[in-house]
Amino acid sequence: MKHFPIFVRLEGRRVVLSGGGEAALAKLRLLLKTEAHLTVFAHTPAPEIEDWAATGRLRLVRRAMEPGDTLCAVLFYAADEDDAKDARTVAIARADGAMINIVDNLEDSAFITPAIVDRDPVTVAIGTEGAAPVLARAIKADLEAKLPATLGVLARIGKAFRRTVEVLPMGRKRRDFWADYYFDAGPRALEEHGEDGVNTALRALLEKHENAVEREGHVAFVGAGPGDPDLLTLKARKALDTADVVIHDRLVTPEILELARREAILIDAGKTGFGPAMAQDEINALIVEHAQTGAQVVRLKGGDPTVFGRLDEEIDAVMQAGIAWHVVPGITAASASVASIGQSLTKRGRNGSVRLLTGHDMKGFADHDWRALSRPGEVAAVYMGKKSARFIQGRLIMHGADRATPVTLIENASRPDQRRIASTLDRLVRDMDSAELTGPALMLIGLAPRATEARKITQTQEFA
Ligand code: SAH
Repeated sequence: MKHFPIFVRLEGRRVVLSGGGEAALAKLRLLLKTEAHLTVFAHTPAPEIEDWAATGRLRLVRRAMEPGDTLCAVLFYAADEDDAKDARTVAIARADGAMINIVDNLEDSAFITPAIVDRDPVTVAIGTEGAAPVLARAIKADLEAKLPATLGVLARIGKAFRRTVEVLPMGRKRRDFWADYYFDAGPRALEEHGEDGVNTALRALLEKHENAVEREGHVAFVGAGPGDPDLLTLKARKALDTADVVIHDRLVTPEILELARREAILIDAGKTGFGPAMAQDEINALIVEHAQTGAQVVRLKGGDPTVFGRLDEEIDAVMQAGIAWHVVPGITAASASVASIGQSLTKRGRNGSVRLLTGHDMKGFADHDWRALSRPGEVAAVYMGKKSARFIQGRLIMHGADRATPVTLIENASRPDQRRIASTLDRLVRDMDSAELTGPALMLIGLAPRATEARKITQTQEFA
């Protein structure tokens, strides 16, 4: 992040702009939304600027800027659309200590003006550091459509009510009150009875919340999927939106944690494969402890929580403590991995069943039905198998598996750094060693990436 977004208080402060053309107009339209004291320096200002000056919305000075003209200004906009003129005004403003923006010159600007969605006092600022103005416009249009025009009114009325709401204890009770107001009672009252109705509704709502019984703690065991935030379910998103506490494991990516409610407490219960780890008992206790304070706990697990997730032990602990819970399934690594190589987990005529295996269990390398797994056409997804490749290879070959059986390794499935390594049973150990896997990796036994050519043909056939 080269530019850090902040909201600058401009109420009663000086903002100076040099320029009177199109670029100046575009910036002034935004600046006029603020309560800043605006001064514009322009020889030949656009008629709009003259009108604004005539109605006292800004001060217009019909000459070039001179040293001292930007004294005490917080912000300065160089908008003469002329490099030489801009360089001159910028030198003056810089000497006077103002933060500088040169219109359409990202490199030499100290700050940039974002695209703005205005629901005053709610303001959304969108920036792309100049990388993709088209994207900023698309996001703005999307938000404009999504955020009701009444949001600003509700926020303004709500703000005036903040002190009154302090009768509710801080934390969840107050949050519940505001969520109820902004997403339910507020919009309804505004639509039915206008602004006065909102005030009445606020008082009624407060009474309701004051008398409400304490909310019970709850634990949601939520699948975070393989890493791509777009592969979260809507239910997972909702759970993250409302969580008080998020206890996650190491597989959950930062992009996903970023989606948790800003006030949520994030706890890393990360367990490294073989390294030091928070013991399962400690995790169980942690979940229970938080839920017992009445918190909405999200136990966030990579992939699907029901696949190699020690879910049952955690559910047992939660049930023993008499706490309510539910499970939100997620996309398991095997699903993301086969998707990435264009294959199916099952296929008519090839394999009518698929196995999800662990490479190691509590005793070390995990034992499986090697004879069955060695049959042609069998498909298995091996989780936590990085260290057990040699063991698995040996067992399968010993039980008569074809050495040419395809094996595909998928590292970081669904993430930007995803890698697919096509190997065979014979070459598995060698290929795995030279791949130097560092991220989570899944081994797909019996599946090779679908050849690109073949895929094209199949797709054409499907669409025909
Ligand atoms: N509950 C998880 C699995 C937990 S076990 C799920 O359903 O996916 C951890 C193992 O999952 C890792 O050792 C790795 O084998 C596999 N895994 C998890 N995320 C992965 C990813 N994005 N890419 C490849 N393998 C992954």
